[in-house]
Amino acid sequence: MPQPRHGTYTTWQFLAPIQNNSAASPPIKSFANLHLLHLLQSINNAFSGTTMGTPSSTNRDSSNATTSESGGVESERRNRILSSKLYFDVHASKVPLIYSSSYDIAFLGIEKMHPFDSSKWGRICRFLIAEGLLDKKHIVEPLEAKKEDLLVVHSESYLDSLKSSSIVSTIVEVPPVAVLPNCLVDKHVLYPFRKQVGGTILAAKLAKEQGWAINVGGGFHHCSAEKGGGFCAYADITLCIYFAFVRLNISRVMIIDLDAHQGNGHEKDFSDDRRVYILDMYNPDIYPFDYEARRYINQKVEVASGTTTSEYLSRLDGALKVAAGAFDPELIIYNAGTDVLDGDPLGRLKISPNGIAARDEKVFMFARERDIPLVMLTSGGYMKSSAKVIADSITNLAKKSLISMESVQDITIT
Ligand SMILES: [Zn+2]
Repeated sequence: MPQPRHGTYTTWQFLAPIQNNSAASPPIKSFANLHLLHLLQSINNAFSGTTMGTPSSTNRDSSNATTSESGGVESERRNRILSSKLYFDVHASKVPLIYSSSYDIAFLGIEKMHPFDSSKWGRICRFLIAEGLLDKKHIVEPLEAKKEDLLVVHSESYLDSLKSSSIVSTIVEVPPVAVLPNCLVDKHVLYPFRKQVGGTILAAKLAKEQGWAINVGGGFHHCSAEKGGGFCAYADITLCIYFAFVRLNISRVMIIDLDAHQGNGHEKDFSDDRRVYILDMYNPDIYPFDYEARRYINQKVEVASGTTTSEYLSRLDGALKVAAGAFDPELIIYNAGTDVLDGDPLGRLKISPNGIAARDEKVFMFARERDIPLVMLTSGGYMKSSAKVIADSITNLAKKSLISMESVQDITIT
């Protein structure tokens, strides 16, 4: 039986003292294909009158948290989690940065018909390797989330619906996918997503062991147990948390969702679950306009279109302070979407690349100061410039000694 990788290294404490360097960041490039923006604008036109808000709290009614499901369903879920292969012990030479070349979606040029950079995940790793921060052989490759894993959260009927290319085309917002044989859609679109889901689930295990983990993908926060959308076909955040409840003996999880869009998927899934505290900072003027899901956010921070870096970071400081006083998590899931970047046509915010680095640093510092394991997911933000901005932010985290890309095996030897 393989040994747990780092035994009792369950904290941030092995990392070096904090330094005060700042990351250099590249300029934002323009973004050409705006068809999705137009789609979202038309949705926006149909829904108006959203309110800008200050941080607010919503109490959950957990009185029927368990009565909504039978004990049999809970038992089946638990058995599926316990028999899953997605949690595996990684070699001591690895660092908790998770990626597979299977993440990247490139198929018959379809990726060029989409406004998203669907190979950003690989580009992030290549930047990190080129900068000398990351050794390719230290990357952890996850397993694919199989049907039995997905059934932990999703229903058979939802998974069956993905056998329709038309439905998948709606979820990923690439109309030509609708006319492709589903076997090709599954292989070239859904399989990459399932690998990313496996990465998100594994990330919680590695974070518990090492203090932090980054899945260079995932963060499909628009997908709930019963409904996909907004480029999100599987509810990886919900799955990750359910696995952590059972396999990591964790009972309190905080989701810090800083993607520009509201995380309506996990909000619906944990609507009545007091084990999960959700801080969602999002632009209310853009997709998904999910007013029901907004009721399930514990701390809602709405940032209007055009919000600048200084205001954004100030609001984040306040929100983290409120979260710290409201909840004591054993695990943090940080959905670090970069569609808040200035120039992103979907997010419509004006956060600079340095602002992204500062934002990520604040969240990592928040977790480290409290010794809480942190999982970071890259989520939305698919401009051509996004990958470099994310790589620069990860580099900044390493410079500030909030993470280390050196393998613990090497540190132990020296
Ligand atoms: Zn987003």
